[in-house]
Amino acid sequence: MTASLRFLADAAPAAPAVPAARTGTALRTAAVEVRYPNGTQALQATSLVFEPGRFTVLLGASGAGKSTLLRCLNGLVRPTAGTVSVDGIGELRSAAALQQHRRSTGMVFQQHHLIGRLSVLSNVLMGRLGYHSSWATLRPWSRSEKESALAAIERVGLLDRALDRADELSGGQQQRVGVARALVQQPRVLLADEPVASLDPATAEHLLSLMQRICRSDGLTAVVSLHQVELARRHADRIVGLKGGAVVFDGAPSALGSQAVLELYGPAGT
Ligand code: ADP
Repeated sequence: MTASLRFLADAAPAAPAVPAARTGTALRTAAVEVRYPNGTQALQATSLVFEPGRFTVLLGASGAGKSTLLRCLNGLVRPTAGTVSVDGIGELRSAAALQQHRRSTGMVFQQHHLIGRLSVLSNVLMGRLGYHSSWATLRPWSRSEKESALAAIERVGLLDRALDRADELSGGQQQRVGVARALVQQPRVLLADEPVASLDPATAEHLLSLMQRICRSDGLTAVVSLHQVELARRHADRIVGLKGGAVVFDGAPSALGSQAVLELYGPAGT
């Protein structure tokens, strides 16, 4: 860490230490179905287990149900049938269970949702907000929170940009800030909805490699949606292929042959 960044971390009074790094926790869907109010059956009865330390890619064409499944996994969409549960928390039904799960779930989005005029560091610190009651957010960030944020920024290779405005960074760098913001939560679960959709191919490779490396080293449960077959083949530990809201493939990338790809991306009913 450079001297100026160390000064920044020293600027606020000491506060309770940030919890130690945590490993992943399993997510389970049991016969989960989603029918939206307009009648669209986005997910058919789906039973899956997502294990810690595994980088699972949800693969499928647009409209296949990837986002809907991800949103069930973080409790943003309530299944119309079936249950989603998290080891150590239980079924995601009560407000308390949902809050506990969301605190330990880092989200990375297609659009990074950064505040452009704020620094990289300030954006990453936003990831800590879930840990505080609303009144507590009015106080300055503690030294340990700033240190955690700088450590997360260092992990995504942007420490030298920590004090720059977020909107001065390239698209790929901004997406890495989004990853750092998720990491500063010290999540057990990392969910990402098409995180590379707006990146060029080389930047997409780099971001996925980074996310995969971090998830493996921290033992996180990672579920990432993609629509590019080759990216999924190169980066996934496991591919769950969706079509028309149903799981049509579940296995290792090496098992995803051309027939399975045809089934995933061919016309409905093939
Ligand atoms: P994917 O992420 O694979 O593109 P989605 O989960 O977004 O797929 O969508 C699955 C299906 O559900 C699509 O037919 C889509 O149009 C529909 N859908 C998604 N969100 C909603 C919603 N909020 N209300 C109604 N239909 C939706």
